[in-house]
Amino acid sequence: MAGKSEGVFSGMANSIWTTEEFTCSGCGMNYTATREKHADKHSGSFKCRVCNAEVHAWSGYHNFFDWEAIETRTPVFGRRWEQSRR
Ligand SMILES: [Zn+2]
Repeated sequence: MAGKSEGVFSGMANSIWTTEEFTCSGCGMNYTATREKHADKHSGSFKCRVCNAEVHAWSGYHNFFDWEAIETRTPVFGRRWEQSRR
């Protein structure tokens, strides 16, 4: 009676999307983007909608899409942004 019981819930259901946050180095605007894994290489870049500086450039087995600006005044995702003095 050698019952093998391995958790056979592998892979497949794992989400390949993660949300990442970026801050514009030009004006400090915060953005989120969805990062998606790919089997082949992608590259691209995102420019700030406010000051047109490059916020992020990427290349590799992933792609970023769904860029959204974050209102800096509202705390998002419980994460602390670097504090800026006003
Ligand atoms: Zn900017």
